[in-house]
Amino acid sequence: MSFSATILTLYPEMFPGPLGLSLSGDALSRGVWSLATKNIRDHGLGRHRAVDDTPAGGGPGMVIRCDVLANAIDAAIPADDPRPKLLMSPRGKPLTQSYVRELAAGPGVVIVCGRFEGVDERVIEARRLQEISIGDYVLSGGEMAAMIVLDSCVRLLPGVMGKEASGREESFESNRLEYPHYTRPREWEGRTIPDVLLSGNHAVIERWRREESERITRERRPDLLER
Ligand code: SAH
Repeated sequence: MSFSATILTLYPEMFPGPLGLSLSGDALSRGVWSLATKNIRDHGLGRHRAVDDTPAGGGPGMVIRCDVLANAIDAAIPADDPRPKLLMSPRGKPLTQSYVRELAAGPGVVIVCGRFEGVDERVIEARRLQEISIGDYVLSGGEMAAMIVLDSCVRLLPGVMGKEASGREESFESNRLEYPHYTRPREWEGRTIPDVLLSGNHAVIERWRREESERITRERRPDLLER
């Protein structure tokens, strides 16, 4: 069983978008994962297929209706679909590498992409949507956030990156940021590659990388060291 993603969106034509290229695109065409998009507007009301309405209590913007979104969800997936149902939302639980690993190890994801001011609270409760945020800033819609969730999951699926690469300790894997990388040429604009990396001594290289990793984390993200 491959990892399967179902996306509910008002802009299905945004997908696969960047996910159709490079690592994730190759994996998609090889069937390592699959992608289905469902247009929420197919369940819109009236001649204009309205999906949103003005916020109760007043204020700016529009809110996606609970009945419309619930109908879209119910038509897209069976009630006993085993996949977690995520709602992209700046109020959500921050996306982390450990959560990405957890998702990638499962059967896939159903992702609801918000637009406008967001969605009626009642559908979040009734369909048990898990709100997930990709960071403390506001996007105009959930589609790019959904792509970020998918991209981070797909690269971890077996056979997407080489064995070597996927087993590697990367940024965040042990609450550390990665050490610096270098490649040819050996000297460039007067800058050289640290001698230790050219020493061929794997134990010493390993220790240098660990120390650099610690230093960079301490400087840039001391909060990670406390986790
Ligand atoms: N009024 C909302 C913002 C709505 S932005 C608020 O103040 O919280 C419109 C949609 O973009 C949201 O429904 C959500 O699906 C998506 N979105 C915006 N920022 C996001 C973020 N940081 N993470 C995930 N999704 C986000």
